[in-house]
Amino acid sequence: MSDLLPRAEQQDDTRSLVDAWLRAANTHEVAAEIEAIYQIVADQVAAHQPVCVSSGRCCHFRDHGHLLYTTGLEAAYAVSRLRPGRSLSPESVAGAVDRGDCPFLVREQCSIHTIKPSGCRVYFCDQENEGWQQALSERVVDQLRRLHERRAIPYRYAEWRALLAWFAAS
Ligand code: SF4
Repeated sequence: MSDLLPRAEQQDDTRSLVDAWLRAANTHEVAAEIEAIYQIVADQVAAHQPVCVSSGRCCHFRDHGHLLYTTGLEAAYAVSRLRPGRSLSPESVAGAVDRGDCPFLVREQCSIHTIKPSGCRVYFCDQENEGWQQALSERVVDQLRRLHERRAIPYRYAEWRALLAWFAAS
């Protein structure tokens, strides 16, 4: 099993973090703050108009040579808003880790497009149009960190599937 997935002895700690993040993500106030940050990203993307051919290549982390990092709170926001009937199992996360992709990639499309984390919203592989992405990414991470501080929410910034494994195991 990959090092990305939690070991048994970590699970009590991760469960209390997951509970705190889910509680926060399900409040109207915190959800509204997360959505305001996502709107900033949407406005910047609209202003820069990077090309996306929806190939899903960037969601194949191993093949694309990168990893997706996000906060536990953003993971909670997404996981708690999965459509009815859609759940996150330890097996689906482990399968994604083994394949080197994302458990929400379905037929080369994102199946959680409206609730995906900020890293997926900021990143575009359009090499002709990427100079603005780093600054936007740093701005978003800073705003998310400040949201945690203001609302006394535990802060963790970690690899996407590692965080999802915490939720799946809880
Ligand atoms: S959440 Fe969606 S966009 Fe982000 S890596 Fe997964 S499938 Fe791709």
